[in-house]
Amino acid sequence: MEKYMTRYEDLVRSKTKTLRGYARDLALTGLSLAASEKYLAIPRVQFLYIHHVFKDEEKRLDALMKRLSKHHQFISYNHAVDKILAGAIDKPYITFSSDDGFKNNLRAAEILNEYNAKACFFINPGVIGETDYDKIRQFCTGTLEFPPVEFLNWDEVGKLQQWGHEIGSHTMMHMNIAAQTEQQITEDMRQTYRILSEKCGSMKHFAFPYGRFFHFSATGRKSVFDAGFTTCATAERGCHINPSAPMTGQELCIRRDHTVLGWDMNHIMYFLINNAKHTSVNNNFYPANFK
Ligand SMILES: [Zn+2]
Repeated sequence: MEKYMTRYEDLVRSKTKTLRGYARDLALTGLSLAASEKYLAIPRVQFLYIHHVFKDEEKRLDALMKRLSKHHQFISYNHAVDKILAGAIDKPYITFSSDDGFKNNLRAAEILNEYNAKACFFINPGVIGETDYDKIRQFCTGTLEFPPVEFLNWDEVGKLQQWGHEIGSHTMMHMNIAAQTEQQITEDMRQTYRILSEKCGSMKHFAFPYGRFFHFSATGRKSVFDAGFTTCATAERGCHINPSAPMTGQELCIRRDHTVLGWDMNHIMYFLINNAKHTSVNNNFYPANFK
C-alpha cells in the first residue's frame, strides 16, 4: 500500500532518538539562552536551507519568517550571491534554499511568497515527476535515508519559477560525488545541466548532495563549473561577510545552514547567532584541498 509521510511528528516517531540527540538538545537549549541576538545586526549573508515543510511545520515556517524579519532583509539566491561577489553586503540578509524537491516544497514556496522571499530549489531531475511508489520508496529509504515522500513534478517546478523562485541542480539522482569516478561525475554534471537548462530556461546554481566537504572533491568542484553552473553550495554551516576584494562565483564556497522547522526555534536562532559571531572572510573560500 502506498504510504507517504506527511507530518513531521510522524518523522520524529519513525526515528529512535539517540542519547547523543538528547545531549545535543540540552546543550543547545543552554547555549541559546546565553546567545545574544545583538550579533544578528552584523551585516552578512546567511543562507538557510530546508528539505521539507510538512503539514505540521507550516505554522512554524511562518513563525520563523516573522522572527527572522525583525533582523534581516530577505533576498533571492541570485541576489545574495551577487552581494557577496561584489563585496556589497551592507546589512543582514537571509536567503533560502531547499534540497531534494519534495512536493511539500510547493507549500514552503507559498509561505515564502507571503514574505516576498525568493528561494532556490535544488532538485534531482531523475526523480522529478516520479509516481511509481516502489521506485520512490527505494530512492527515499536507500539514497536519502528518509521515509517515502512525494516529489514535485515538472509542472510544479514551472510554478515555482512563475512565482519568481529559482531552480538549481542537485545531480540526477542525489549522488555522493566523493564516491564517484571523474567520468561519472562529469557525465552527471553535463546531463543535469542540459536537462535543467531545457526544462527551466537557464541554469546557474548547483548544490552537491549530502553537503559536507567529505562528500565532495576538487574534481567535483571543477566539473560543476566546466558543465556551465556558476555557483556551488555546500551544507557546511556558516555565513558570509564581504571579501577583502571582489571575487568570482568559482571561488565562492557557499555555506548554508541546515534548518528543520520542527526544531525548537531557539535552536535555529542559536546557529545563526553563532555563525554571525564567528564569521570571517575565509568562510567565502574553499579549504585548501579543493584547489
Ligand atoms: Zn539532498
